[in-house]
Amino acid sequence: MLPRVGRAAWQSRLAALLIATVIVGVSCTRNGTPAPVILVGLDAFGWDFLEKAETPTLDGLIARGVRAEWMVPIFPTKTFPNHYSIVTGVYAERHGIVSNTMYDPLFEAWFRLSDREAVQDGRWWGGEPVWVTAERAGRTAAAFFWPGTEADIQGIRPTHWRTYVHRTPNDERVDQVLAWLDLPEGERPSLITTYFADVDDATHGFGVDAPETSEAIREIDRAIGRLVAGLEARDILEEVNLVIVSDHGMVDRSRDRVVFLDDFVDLDDVEVVDWSPVAAIVPAEGREEGVFQRLVGAHPHLQVYRKAEIPDRWHYRDHHRIQPILAVADPGWAISTRDYFRSRPDAFGGATHGYDNAAQSMQALFIASGPAFRSGAVVPPFQNIHVYELLCHVLEVAAAPNDGSLDSVRMLLR
Ligand code: AMP
Ligand code: ZN
Ligand code: ZN
Repeated sequence: MLPRVGRAAWQSRLAALLIATVIVGVSCTRNGTPAPVILVGLDAFGWDFLEKAETPTLDGLIARGVRAEWMVPIFPTKTFPNHYSIVTGVYAERHGIVSNTMYDPLFEAWFRLSDREAVQDGRWWGGEPVWVTAERAGRTAAAFFWPGTEADIQGIRPTHWRTYVHRTPNDERVDQVLAWLDLPEGERPSLITTYFADVDDATHGFGVDAPETSEAIREIDRAIGRLVAGLEARDILEEVNLVIVSDHGMVDRSRDRVVFLDDFVDLDDVEVVDWSPVAAIVPAEGREEGVFQRLVGAHPHLQVYRKAEIPDRWHYRDHHRIQPILAVADPGWAISTRDYFRSRPDAFGGATHGYDNAAQSMQALFIASGPAFRSGAVVPPFQNIHVYELLCHVLEVAAAPNDGSLDSVRMLLR
């Protein structure tokens, strides 16, 4: 039998060991490094799309992890602005990816998703994405797609990255994610991102309730199922933090819901940098006030703002890539010209996004599962700008200054 004092010391050491085991158990792998984070972006997977098809894998992850009722995107509810806010924690006016298509008057240059040179040019990308934060902290990051991961942001790229190729099979993406996890300790990435576009493609083409959309949702679930099976086969499903997000939801359009700019303004008086559903309008010199007055109140489904008067809640004003006049169509509406509309009889069907980020149809998906996260919980909605702080916390790296807060998402954590 142990002497009294010795027993107390032994008991407290055992207690400390138990506590340490529990702490390590929730946040670290077997050898004590923080659990890797896999961040999966599901383009256009609306907050309620789980109801549109059978999703056994996602349902399983929700059951073992945590889901938000929905996640609030930033304005505008476009792909690049939102994917990039999720990884930087800042609004578009701070990261500068103010749309998918932009003109920068200082660079005198255009940015388009299909323009590899622009997309890979770090000068467009403000804020600090989580892979830069991780690499700076001496960690390894890997990306099989995510907007921004091809660019030299602050001179830093993820250790592993890929040039975006839309047709890359989902299985190739998943298998590379798993191969990265197979790298030896020290080379194994702490942060891995990947991205799937199927639901964006299907909804744009066919609408939110089309059989093609259900099929795309099933395909996403199947691809994530392959990832989960790969983690299980390696016996690391419980050691990896899986964070699955979407950038925005979708809403159906119609040829009966189009606002024609040329019904109100002479197209020679404006340059339209970005068209729909958010038009970024540069009036010709001396025509600023005239163009604004013609557009404001012109159509009941078009909200028109001078740059200085864009609503505060959008955090979308203070950047030189935001143009002098902003026209925002109501959800389900589009902005075009008579000529464009007439010459494209098949256009303006399907679904789209980009609208007011408060619209219910634009709300996004958030699911997380793994040692850092609660199990079996559904939490109230939160904004996607808080995800950066969450990722930094789970990765155990110090977050760069941003617009989000860990307190807003603590309810997700175990
Ligand atoms: P949108 O629906 O216009 O907001 O953008 C969706 C499109 O963005 C998808 O169809 C993809 O082709 C494209 N996309 C997604 N990720 C990337 C990327 N990393 N680089 C270039 N294009 C991308
Ligand atoms: Zn998108
Ligand atoms: Zn889209």
